[in-house]
Amino acid sequence: MFSYRHAFHAGNHADVLKHFVLVQLLQYMNQKDTAYSYIDTHAGAGVYALDGNFASKNAEYETGIGPLWERTDLPPALAEYVDLIKAMNPSGKMRYYPGSPYCADQVAREQDRLRLYELHPADSKILTDNFRKLDEHKAAQGIRSSVRGKRVLVTRGDGFHELKGLLPPPSRRGVVLCDPPYEDKQDYRKVVDMLNDATKRFPAGTYAIWYPILQRIEARNFAERMKHIKGTEWLNVTLTIRTPGPDGFGGLHSSGMFIVNPPFTLEATLKEVMPYLVEVLGEDTGASFVLETGNAATAPRAASLQ
Ligand code: SAM
Repeated sequence: MFSYRHAFHAGNHADVLKHFVLVQLLQYMNQKDTAYSYIDTHAGAGVYALDGNFASKNAEYETGIGPLWERTDLPPALAEYVDLIKAMNPSGKMRYYPGSPYCADQVAREQDRLRLYELHPADSKILTDNFRKLDEHKAAQGIRSSVRGKRVLVTRGDGFHELKGLLPPPSRRGVVLCDPPYEDKQDYRKVVDMLNDATKRFPAGTYAIWYPILQRIEARNFAERMKHIKGTEWLNVTLTIRTPGPDGFGGLHSSGMFIVNPPFTLEATLKEVMPYLVEVLGEDTGASFVLETGNAATAPRAASLQ
């Protein structure tokens, strides 16, 4: 049950897609003063050392943040995400990579609320410790405590289960990131059940689901099932960096972000950024992206392919 450790994958191409889109979603929320809740059902450890034992084992960041680090021609929206990572590496050397909780903490404002769930005992402890350190750092700068205050709550628990009690959020504004490991094939079903339930409790919420694109049958039908969640507008974006190896051999080549109730600006931003990611992260002629939008009552109404 606890075999998955995100540190092995930190900063890879899938993290780039996920965290870049997450930053866009929260920046859109920041356009209104009213506070919002950010709920991370599968938060991970929060920050990863790229020179640590886990991340350096397969150096997966070389498929993701690595090739973007020195680029001077980043599209503006992608530059915002890379700048966030550069700010946590003031020496200029790429040493630390942020998890989704850290990205959210940096983009969300003082009035917003972060609710972070992580089941793994070691990672939930590291996440708590990381936020305590962030807190101390902020206190030294005269910024109000976040962990001791109400802004950030880290809970060791099952995010699928806990989400029910958090919706709708007090301000009726919220973004939910759901990013399970999918090592247990039940995760696919749990995500669809969770979306069905959550969109009834809080129809106006924005839900971001990360998913791997794999050969297994549950994965192949997954995005199609999410497209049929009743009453929802959706956007689906996938990034493939190489031609899949035979029988899925060769590691993760492709992943997607499925967004329920996406900001209306997101599609245009992705049209600008996805071709760039394909060009810079693509490893062979199989590199490509798919961008499609629709609602549960219709077939996809638009699709850009490369
Ligand atoms: N969202 C993180 C990020 O982007 O930095 C990475 C999350 S990682 C892909 C998935 C995490 O979910 C792992 O740390 C794993 O321990 C945790 N996990 C697995 N099952 C869970 C559950 N039911 N509830 C909460 N966390 C869970």
